[in-house]
Amino acid sequence: MDTSDPGHAVVIGAGMAGLLAARILAERHLEVRVIDRDDLVSEPQGAPRRGVPQGRHIHALLPRGRQILEELFPGLTRQLIDAGAPAGDLLGDARLHLSGHRFARTDANLTTVSVSRPYLEACVRDRVRELPNVTFGPPTDVLGLALTPDRERVRGVRVLRRADGSAEEVLPASLVIDAMGRGSRTPSWLREHGYGSPAEDRITSDLGYSTRHYRLPAEVLGGDWGTLQGPTPARPRGGVLARIEGDRWVVTLFGLLGDHPPTEPDGFTDFAASLTFGDIDEALRSGEPLDDPVAYRFPASTRRRYERLRHFPAGLLPIGDAVCGLNPIYGQGMTVAALQALALREQMRGSAPPEPRRWLREVARIVDAPWDMVVGGDLAIPQVEGPRTAKVRMLGAYVARLHAAAAHDPRLAVAFARVMALVDPPTVLLRPGVAGRVLRGRRATPVPGGEMPPASGHPHGRSEPDPHEEVHR
Ligand SMILES: Cc1cc2nc3c(=O)[nH]c(=O)nc-3n(C[C@H](O)[C@H](O)[C@H](O)COP(=O)(O)OP(=O)(O)OC[C@H]3O[C@@H](n4cnc5c(N)ncnc54)[C@H](O)[C@@H]3O)c2cc1C
Repeated sequence: MDTSDPGHAVVIGAGMAGLLAARILAERHLEVRVIDRDDLVSEPQGAPRRGVPQGRHIHALLPRGRQILEELFPGLTRQLIDAGAPAGDLLGDARLHLSGHRFARTDANLTTVSVSRPYLEACVRDRVRELPNVTFGPPTDVLGLALTPDRERVRGVRVLRRADGSAEEVLPASLVIDAMGRGSRTPSWLREHGYGSPAEDRITSDLGYSTRHYRLPAEVLGGDWGTLQGPTPARPRGGVLARIEGDRWVVTLFGLLGDHPPTEPDGFTDFAASLTFGDIDEALRSGEPLDDPVAYRFPASTRRRYERLRHFPAGLLPIGDAVCGLNPIYGQGMTVAALQALALREQMRGSAPPEPRRWLREVARIVDAPWDMVVGGDLAIPQVEGPRTAKVRMLGAYVARLHAAAAHDPRLAVAFARVMALVDPPTVLLRPGVAGRVLRGRRATPVPGGEMPPASGHPHGRSEPDPHEEVHR
């Protein structure tokens, strides 16, 4: 098939990566067919669905991701706000606690919108559905790739509809996007066709989530839209509380290294009370639970190194979690998928797909920074296994010191938040202007239960940061 002709594209997976890829391919005048196992028509819109079980848990949309979504779907931010999703600044209207320090409060000019994953996905899906050359198929399993006889390029996908009496068929396409998420079957399909499997990088953090929704009084968190507490080496657990659409709050608690929050209601609130800072615990005390907690296990961040394979079929493009599933406590996955969608736009030559090697290298380049952040964060916890090179140890110590200084220095807080939001690359944190402030900065002692062992005397080892105790030069 001559891929320079406008043709057909199949997107496997209607998660965020698949929807954004479909949006880009549609503007390149391809006939785009989006295939998913789930019923995307008759199932309730905006409700969690089976193919995306992580959708029941907090899904922070980082500011860079919001910017890209707004660029691809003008008016989306307004639509979400009109549906009741709060929008606000990452530092000015929310509370960020990292390495046991509460970041200085300041306007970082990093607007985000706090919305549930199912609702965000439903809004984006509706926009994609409106595109005249995009169609969504009925619930269908993609079983494998169909390749040309020389196995050099894709000519479609083998599918089986989820309906009685269905038979396997081939959907023809000159371009196939693998947006199947972390469970992507591309590695085994490549093996099947003699390409070999990609090497896989893996950092095992044995993370567990537990999530519950609440109705809370309006004055909770002093009007802020959310609070995040990251793990610390001494206490590798944390949580997020955020207001979302529908006048609800979502609480996701998490713990690494098998220290998983319970789903039993009392255990859930006890876990919240054990966190280093008291915001979530206090908020929940005045809250009305709307459902029972649900759990999610995330054993490891994994990164498939497709860019290192010697051969790769032309016309097959993996994207999103199919390439790299990042520890979700950093909230980067949807934004990484959005950055890759922009790269797809850059690399399409008319309606012809990018050259595979160029695509895979670019995807790897986009993943590098968030992967390094996740690996650095996970390896800051001594029990997490992984290669602690001199660079990793040095950067870990530097970032911990930056977090301490950011408790008092709004400029450092903003610099770090911009990197975390995937607006700036991590290298900006090493620039002299930032490094000088880190090295000269006031060195706050993390609150008890942060870096230090839990305080004795408190039932959960929690205490509020004491501004007098916090500072030592
Ligand atoms: C617990 C958890 C919390 C997270 N929190 C955040 C967060 O706060 N912020 C953030 O940005 N990201 C977060 N993420 C990551 C985020 O969910 C993903 O990065 C993002 O959704 C992009 O994923 P995707 O579209 O590549 O895959 P997915 O969203 O997983 O979608 C894959 C789709 O492919 C379909 N599919 C799979 N195989 C087949 C097949 N063979 N045939 C047909 N269909 C198939 C599935 O049904 C599904 O619809 C979190 C992830 C987890 C696990």
